[in-house]
This record gives sequence, structure tokens and C-alpha cells, in this order.
Amino acid sequence: MEQKKIRTRFAPSPTGRMHVGNLRTALYAYLIAKHAGGDFLVRIEDTDRERYVEGAVEIIYRTLQNTGLHHDEGPDKPGNVGPYVQSERQQMGIYARHAEELVEKGEAYRCFCDVERLETLRQEAEARKEMFKYDKHCLELSPEEVAKKLASGAPHVIRQNNPAEGKTTFVDEIYGEISVDNSELDDMILMKSDGFPTYNFANVVDDHLMGITHVVRGNEYLSSSPKYNRLYEAFGWEVPIYVHCPLITNEEHQKLSKRSGHSSYEDLVEQGFLTEAIVNYVALLGWSPGINEEIFSLEQLVSLFDYRNINKSPAVFDMKKFRWMNSEY
Ligand code: GLU
Ligand code: ZN
Repeated sequence: MEQKKIRTRFAPSPTGRMHVGNLRTALYAYLIAKHAGGDFLVRIEDTDRERYVEGAVEIIYRTLQNTGLHHDEGPDKPGNVGPYVQSERQQMGIYARHAEELVEKGEAYRCFCDVERLETLRQEAEARKEMFKYDKHCLELSPEEVAKKLASGAPHVIRQNNPAEGKTTFVDEIYGEISVDNSELDDMILMKSDGFPTYNFANVVDDHLMGITHVVRGNEYLSSSPKYNRLYEAFGWEVPIYVHCPLITNEEHQKLSKRSGHSSYEDLVEQGFLTEAIVNYVALLGWSPGINEEIFSLEQLVSLFDYRNINKSPAVFDMKKFRWMNSEY
């Protein structure tokens, strides 16, 4: 059987600085692709305009360029080899078209519920000590009712239509088999009332359209993955291989955050650390090549990297160890 070319991507949302956790995700995605002679793509996930931070895209581009994590392709337009940008793809109607396809298949539906109704549902769920789940109210609307509402210009969103029964099961390369009851899945919003896709929907559509074989990302997305898998099924698309990377914490075992801005690649460079040392250290946060050596170039990392050796437990970004390792450069 012909082996599919391995394709990975780094898909950051431009919401802040690029801390070592983001750099590690990008690096692992790059290493998985390059180890197998595959392609590494970069995709800016910027359809959530409320979370957009000015200047964040430039930091991401600079960090990837300076660390040598060069991408292999970009949107096919004259003079542009730059990474994919979802707000540009939204303009091309890609996400709206795909949402319509699901509506036609009965795998998604228009929801006209207003904020008040949703808030009431939310409060009721809270009183029952349950997670909020949309009650499929608008799934009951007849085609005539929907047409009438649309003609009147009523604002609406498009929601995923998840089955009430059965289970969704998938295997993550790091965490093993994950299984949830479909009854737990919320009918998440795919297209917002402003015509922009939600981050989740654009993510799945693009991973498919870009032929991504291995989805590499932080483990905070592990719990959303069943909803993503339902979308792949609804489209009839093949589910990618998932590699959810464990958390990186600081020495106090707190989650590193993009917003806190500490320990970003550029902070470390400012403190005088060499790029090679930073990349080397970041690679070893939660991954071990299984040999007695501590200093590797990017090329060596490419040849040694095997994602099956990524550690499940959280990795600690320890400045003291990092300084000590740097004394050997
Ligand atoms: N856009 C997401 C983020 O910045 C990444 C999600 C993914 O890689 O699938 O955290
Ligand atoms: Zn509704």
C-alpha cells in the first residue's frame, strides 16, 4: 500500500506572545513531519476577532523563522509563500460553504435562539449542577419556519447536530483510547451570526482541506476532540492521527500562559541564550531520545525524533536546569 505523505501543521491563534509551550508544539509538529520527509504547514487561526492581539502574528512568524522551523507551503497566490491565514480563507467563503453542506446533510442546523433563551438554559443547567448543553430546540423548526425566519433577516448561528446515542471513540498517540457518550456532546456552534466560523469548525475544515495527517497540539484540546471527530464523520472524512502534547508548567507547577508573557522565545534571546540552546531544551521538555547525550542540533533532532517517546506527565520548564545546560554551549 502506498504510504501517505506525512503532513503536520502549527495552528496558533494570535492571542499573545509565543511562550516555550507554543514553541514546543510547533517544534514537535515540525520534527514529526521532517523525520518522515513530510511537509510542515503554518496556519494562523484568527477568526476569533475578540481575542486577536495586535502584533502577535509578527511574533509567531519571527519566532518560527529564527528557530529554523520553516514551513513548506502557503496559499496559492502570486508572490505569496507566507503561511495560511484563516481570516483570508473566510473571505473566500470556504467555511460557509462547508457549513451549508452539513446543513443539507442534516448534520447541522440553523439556530435562531436569542441570548435570553440561551441564558435561561444555562441557568437551568447550573441549578441542576449540569454542564450547559444546547437543547436542540431549533432542530424542530420546519423548513417553512426556517425559510420565513431567514427571509425576515433573523440573526442565527449554525450548530452541529450530534447524535443523542452511541459513543465516540478515538485513539490519541500519547493518551491512548478516549471514549465519550454522544449524549454528553453539546451541539457546538460552527458558524457565528456574524458569518465567521468558530475556531473549532475552521480548524477541522482546514485540517482536512490541507491534508493534515498528524494533528499535534496541546492536551487542553483532548476533551474537544470527540466533537471534532463527529465533524469528520459528518463530512465523511478520514480522522487524522492525534498527538496531544502534555502540559508544560513552571517550577511552581503552574501552567505557562501565553498572556503572562514570561519565558517566550524572544525573552530568552534577550536574556542572552542562544537559539540552538533554546530549541534543544524545548525539544527535551517531555521527550527523550533515549541516548546519553544532551545537546542536539535541529538536524539531529529531526533524525532522532519519535513521537511515541513523548512523555505523558507534565514537563517542567526549569530555568535553573536551562541555565546549567547553557553553560555547556
Ligand atoms: N489555534 C489553537 C491555539 O492556538 C491550536 C489548536 C490546534 O492546534 O488544533 O491554541
Ligand atoms: Zn435555537
